[in-house]
Amino acid sequence: MRRTGHKSFKEIDLLVEGFDKPVLLRKNPRARRFTLRVSHTNRQAILTVPTYSKIQEASEFLAEHEDWLRQKLNELPEPIPFANDEILPFKGDPHLIQFVGSTKRRGVVYRVREGSSKGTKSQNSLADQFGDLPLICVTGAEEHGPRRLADWLKSEARKEIDKRVSYHADQLGLSPKRLSIRDQSSRWGSCSTTGVLSFSWRLILAPSHVLDYVAAHEVAHLKEMNHGPKFWRLVRKTFPDMEEPQHWLSQFGAELHRYGMPE
Ligand SMILES: [Zn+2]
Repeated sequence: MRRTGHKSFKEIDLLVEGFDKPVLLRKNPRARRFTLRVSHTNRQAILTVPTYSKIQEASEFLAEHEDWLRQKLNELPEPIPFANDEILPFKGDPHLIQFVGSTKRRGVVYRVREGSSKGTKSQNSLADQFGDLPLICVTGAEEHGPRRLADWLKSEARKEIDKRVSYHADQLGLSPKRLSIRDQSSRWGSCSTTGVLSFSWRLILAPSHVLDYVAAHEVAHLKEMNHGPKFWRLVRKTFPDMEEPQHWLSQFGAELHRYGMPE
């Protein structure tokens, strides 16, 4: 085990032999004991320790829990890259990613609703096996494909979230100051005290009613900055069937973090 960073620290990376990624060692003044956890969203192991702990103690703690940590990391679902022939959900429906090279077609990314390998360059690809899946075709050099696809997904997310936020805000007579689309790792959406609503672009991967629910939820926070009964009444007013998307998020939400590159 080696360490990087300085002797006095708030956060440092501890390199543990046999692990691809260093463990993030984080000091927390409120921590009373050592807590080791694995973040599903970015596959990061995090060890939280009380402020006055020594690195040596942290190292010993990690050594004791190495097997547990290894097992936890192994149990994480495999990430699914933005790569040719990978399957990506878009608005809840699986699509096959196809990097189609340079073409005169519209835009950098386009969807072919009825799956077929026609119109794509790849031969004998998974598109033949999964002939029924709609395609997401990414044009241009393959090395830029993942970035282009990520940019496209974010802009689709923004369009859709913008639409749904406007709808719910109109319903409730509220107006957000600004919308921000990010790769929030722990939350699907948030509302600042200044009225800025932030959303994870990954919501565009989920079924539309899930994105819609998160939009309604954050809009309601413009008036009620809490999760009290008044808040839920407000959400229900503009989005009556919220149990189903809530259930979907708790069941499948973490899955959405498997796609693309962690940021
Ligand atoms: Zn909330």
